[in-house]
Amino acid sequence: MDLTSAEKLVKLLISQHIDPDQGEVKGPVRFQWSRGTKALGTYEVRRKHTGTDPLTLAPAFVYTRTITLSRPMTAVCDEVKVRETILHEIAHARAGIRANHGPAWARECNLLGIVPQVCGGTLGVDVPLPLTGVRSTCRVCGKTHWRARMPAPGKRYACGECRGRADFLQRELTWRRGP
Ligand SMILES: [Zn+2]
Ligand SMILES: [Zn+2]
Repeated sequence: MDLTSAEKLVKLLISQHIDPDQGEVKGPVRFQWSRGTKALGTYEVRRKHTGTDPLTLAPAFVYTRTITLSRPMTAVCDEVKVRETILHEIAHARAGIRANHGPAWARECNLLGIVPQVCGGTLGVDVPLPLTGVRSTCRVCGKTHWRARMPAPGKRYACGECRGRADFLQRELTWRRGP
């Protein structure tokens, strides 16, 4: 994927899916390119020493949140892969760094419409995590939607992504379990 488009995409997705007032660290999530070749993306909380608290004389710190993408790896990955990785890192930012690749993180992945799986990076191997919930792919726009459980009988959902482009019946989602 070309790097200019990737940078636009990551900034767009951050603005759409991260509330600066929510999460373990308040404030915006920044984006940075990295030169790494082990992971396509990372989410990091960084601590910066800012001097001494004038009242308590204790060291004072600010914490910042950063999502990185590897420049060399982005260049050779397609947009689908880059987008999935960005959402994977956004799920980390929303669940908090302590959630690791656990249930809270997997839940955020589901809400963001991606499969909660770990590829490369820290573990070095593909480890698909058990999937919870049900999913449905929109027949109009192809977007995959996730829910924690099967909708109650008689309750019907349609894809919100293509609202206005197609009527309810065309956009209606049928749910199934599994990947
Ligand atoms: Zn991860
Ligand atoms: Zn749709």
